[in-house]
Amino acid sequence: MFGIGLNNLIKIGFRVSDHILKQQEIERSRTASEKARLQAEASREKTIEENSRYRRTMLEDEIARASVAVECPNCGSTGNRIRRGSTGFCQFCGTAIQISQSGTAFIADPIAKERALAEEEIRRKGGEQVNV
Ligand SMILES: [Zn+2]
Repeated sequence: MFGIGLNNLIKIGFRVSDHILKQQEIERSRTASEKARLQAEASREKTIEENSRYRRTMLEDEIARASVAVECPNCGSTGNRIRRGSTGFCQFCGTAIQISQSGTAFIADPIAKERALAEEEIRRKGGEQVNV
């Protein structure tokens, strides 16, 4: 007869299937924890995305609140929006338009125009906004 009896063969068989089951269980838990990790990551990314969208909206609201629709004192066009207390340029005729804190538009004085030009130059170069 063989060295290994039927009983032993069955025992080994159980042990092997037991081992396979354990492996499958580990694999399942790995998959589950990996899934949980990916879900957590996705939810984190979603939160970051939502936060940045919220901040963007807040910023847009802030700009909209702070700026006024301006009728150009020079050419009369109405498509310009300029921040209160700042100087902007008419997008049609290029006139420098100064907006008071109360929202009144008038043709900018030469100093305000130079300052606005310098600020725009700085913005175009991507630098920090500085006081000129
Ligand atoms: Zn104009």
